Amino acid sequence: MNPWFAKAVILASSIVMVIIRAPHGQRSRGVKVVRSRRGALEMVLLTLAWVSFFVPLVWVATPVFAFADYPLRPVPLLGGIVCLAVGLWLFKRSHADLGTNWSVTLEVREKHQLVTHGIYRTLRHPMYSALLLYSLGQALVVPNWIAGPSYAVAMSLLVALRLGPEERMMLEEFGKDYEAYRARTKRLVPGIW
Ligand code: SAH
Repeated sequence: MNPWFAKAVILASSIVMVIIRAPHGQRSRGVKVVRSRRGALEMVLLTLAWVSFFVPLVWVATPVFAFADYPLRPVPLLGGIVCLAVGLWLFKRSHADLGTNWSVTLEVREKHQLVTHGIYRTLRHPMYSALLLYSLGQALVVPNWIAGPSYAVAMSLLVALRLGPEERMMLEEFGKDYEAYRARTKRLVPGIW
């Protein structure tokens, strides 16, 4: 198949992702941060996530990763499009439910509220599920051994190393309420984990 199908999908999904996040990012920036846990590890993980988000776009626009290309096939392309679409839907839902309580890193904002409604009724980390699904979609869509899995590797690392500290922060902030919330919800996969 012509790799431009994959390039068009990556371009469109990246634009949708930015369009979903932009207004929430702007709104949250208007609410003061009262506690931050942004340590050195967080900075490294965030930088890695940002860089790896742009790697597929570099693949779209330039030939720098051409040496690692492989032929595009319809089944992974279609599977990837489904993952991207579901991931983007979940990303939009979780941003809407989290509202101004969202932060790009580990932070507690002024008048921070524990969100337990909407998609957060079932999952404690739906936005991370969304980003993992989205990154899996990219890995399937991009027929390149470097640009394909780059975001999935970075997101898996970020989520694996952040879940523990984030839940400890929420527990310190919301005490028994978060304990009860944690007891009745799963982390990333509904009904499983
Ligand atoms: N882990 C969540 C949120 C990601 S954004 C998810 O994947 O959907 C990260 C910030 O969200 C954290 O710094 C924390 O302040 C905030 N947060 C996480 N879970 C929350 C919840 N249930 N209610 C309110 N804020 C939450």
